[in-house]
Amino acid sequence: MKIFGIIDLSTLDYPKRCSSVVFMSGCNMRCGYCHNYLHMKRNTRDIPPYKVYKSIDLTFSEAIVISGGEPTVQPQTLIEFCRIVKREENLPIKLDTNGSNVDVVKELIQEGLIDYLAVDVKCAFEKYWDIAQYEGSKIEDNVKKLIKICKKEGIFIECRTTYIPEKMDKEDIYTIVNTVKGCNLYALQQFDSEHCWKEEYRKMREPTLEELVELGNVAKEYIPNVVVRSKEGILYL
Ligand code: SF4
Repeated sequence: MKIFGIIDLSTLDYPKRCSSVVFMSGCNMRCGYCHNYLHMKRNTRDIPPYKVYKSIDLTFSEAIVISGGEPTVQPQTLIEFCRIVKREENLPIKLDTNGSNVDVVKELIQEGLIDYLAVDVKCAFEKYWDIAQYEGSKIEDNVKKLIKICKKEGIFIECRTTYIPEKMDKEDIYTIVNTVKGCNLYALQQFDSEHCWKEEYRKMREPTLEELVELGNVAKEYIPNVVVRSKEGILYL
């Protein structure tokens, strides 16, 4: 299992629960604003899933979050790790994904291995190539499929967008929320320029809380539950 980090205790990564977070290496996208891209290339270690599980201090954890990178690019180890966590601790598991691999997520859900799915919807789909160097039409289809599967199986699904004002506008949010309107929660996240791996993004302006709230209210026209996550805190609209 290729990982580049573990956080033993987080209060931010699993909504309303203390959690431990495992960061799996590898990704099939190349988002210019990624904070982990260079870090995961430099700091990846290959450790058997059981050893990863044993090395997490779960003393205060009520859940596990599997993040990355993109965890589904290591499908077998991801599944094995989730099986170990469920067998040994039976803790709720949240999976963070970029939505590129529906089949792996479906397998995890059908085996009862995940409880919360957080899917990045990075931008309006025609802008995907510019922002994530990935095919947007594929993600558009996948997100619709993931929402459908989660609804059928009773899994909580969050869709989330990191808002970059110099790359996006209100129309993008309309496009996104129109596609993800069946999700349980839509999150607008504040773009943080400081740790972007591409220099171009490090020069871009960050959105204000007021802008995010205004866009969040646009999202609320389609989705009942909307949250804004910014450096100033978490705001449920
Ligand atoms: S999908 Fe996530 S991990 Fe992959 S490049 Fe984009 S932000 Fe980074």
